[in-house]
Amino acid sequence: MRGLHWFRNDLRLRDHGVLSALSDRVDEWGALFVFDPTLLDSKRARNRDRFLIECLLSLREELEERGVPLWTVSGRPEQVVPRVARDLRADVVSFSEADTPYARRRDEGVRTALESRHHQVLSLRDHTVFGPSEILTKKGTPHSVYSPYRRAWWSAWSAAPRWPATRLRLPKRPIEIESGPSEDAIANLGLPETPRIGPAGGEAAARRRLAAFLEKRVGRYATDRDIPAEDGTARLSPYLRFGVLSARRCFADALAHADANPSAREGVDKWLDELVWREFYAAVLSNRPEVTTRNFRPEYDALAWRQDPEGLAAWCEGRTGYPIVDAGMRQLVETGWMHNRVRMIVASFLTKDLLIDWRLGARFFMDHLVDADPASNNGGWQWAASTGTDPQPYFRIFNPTKQGERWDPDGRYVRRWVPELEGIASKFLHAPWLAPQPPGAYPAPVVDHAQARARALDAYRAARARYG
Ligand SMILES: Cc1cc2nc3c(=O)[nH]c(=O)nc-3n(C[C@H](O)[C@H](O)[C@H](O)COP(=O)(O)OP(=O)(O)OC[C@H]3O[C@@H](n4cnc5c(N)ncnc54)[C@H](O)[C@@H]3O)c2cc1C
Repeated sequence: MRGLHWFRNDLRLRDHGVLSALSDRVDEWGALFVFDPTLLDSKRARNRDRFLIECLLSLREELEERGVPLWTVSGRPEQVVPRVARDLRADVVSFSEADTPYARRRDEGVRTALESRHHQVLSLRDHTVFGPSEILTKKGTPHSVYSPYRRAWWSAWSAAPRWPATRLRLPKRPIEIESGPSEDAIANLGLPETPRIGPAGGEAAARRRLAAFLEKRVGRYATDRDIPAEDGTARLSPYLRFGVLSARRCFADALAHADANPSAREGVDKWLDELVWREFYAAVLSNRPEVTTRNFRPEYDALAWRQDPEGLAAWCEGRTGYPIVDAGMRQLVETGWMHNRVRMIVASFLTKDLLIDWRLGARFFMDHLVDADPASNNGGWQWAASTGTDPQPYFRIFNPTKQGERWDPDGRYVRRWVPELEGIASKFLHAPWLAPQPPGAYPAPVVDHAQARARALDAYRAARARYG
């Protein structure tokens, strides 16, 4: 039997659920990656495109060592995948399932086209440890709050841990065919000209980063994770997003590290709880795919978001006049990355201080983040906007000045990204408008936080009142 694996957000060979299942069904195989024009936009997400291409190059190299071709073709998957499957006379086409409404439609289209041409389809959901219908409430319904989900998640793990596969399981041999698709989309696209700013792509790099994080930093994670000037987190999210590393591998290695180093236990536990957040948001998206465009809590559907193109542009361009917000947005646009604490601050600022619809912020993040993940991004944005799963009420509104003073007390993060503030006295760094001579090159605040807070509270209260 002959298999074709369609790689998507599962760009690895190790601990790969679908490839392992494929190896039980076929003897020979080849691999395909499709550059879908709907998802690829190298103008905005150049850091992400570079990361993706590096991951593909590294995957191709590993496959070539085994004689297995990785064909890369541009086009709509509904057309490309069945065409390649036909040309290669593949008996089975496999892929890892995805959850967004777009991915589901696309995959349904591909599946129908393949099955109508008598190819078998093998698909599994493998990007989290537990699937969306495995962790349920006692009533058998999906969880809508993180804490009980987390407890249920760990009970499921204790009852039957999901360890990563200990050995590589791939079909026996490369596909026996003279030639495959002639297009080489990676070569046509090429690496973006700008130099790499973020992490290097590829499975080996991911595993090195995980090992280095556990070795050097996880012990201090519980304290360092909120300090944006520190390199205190794992920075593994791009690898997890593209499936270059399996979530099972992260759990297994971290737990083994804590067993061997009891002093690291607190940091490991905290870190793994963050990975459980990832699982939680993935389950929410899978069970409620409409959250990509709709509030998780319908009581906020009537919220009167402001139309404020100038405020939105100031936020996107990092010139709101609030240093921690501007530092974060500039870091995002330049590098494709932003620290989690700062993501929370800028998202609160957009949705509460500017009262701009979370969907616009979420879109901007999806356009720029290297780790742009529809589930975690949506969860994070709806958390910040108080429209999501979080039981904390709408009156949690971050004060951007206090957040800056608390999490960037020595100003290292802000000074790195907002050079206009270089010369300002430290005590005014997070509120430069209070300085006797505010720096001329830096904008005045686009809103007064106290007034904006009152305005947001009124708007949220009114929406709830209208909902009844
Ligand atoms: C508004 C907003 C938008 C976000 N958008 C994304 C996104 O598009 N993609 C994304 O991967 N994460 C997103 N996050 C979550 C979080 O900011 C990143 O996962 C984290 O910063 C990644 O850095 P790290 O790998 O060093 O994390 P670590 O602190 O080392 O955590 C380890 C892993 O746990 C997961 N994780 C950590 N925090 C969260 C969280 N709050 N929610 C879900 N998973 C989490 C990630 O997979 C991360 O790699 C968002 C958060 C907010 C507030």
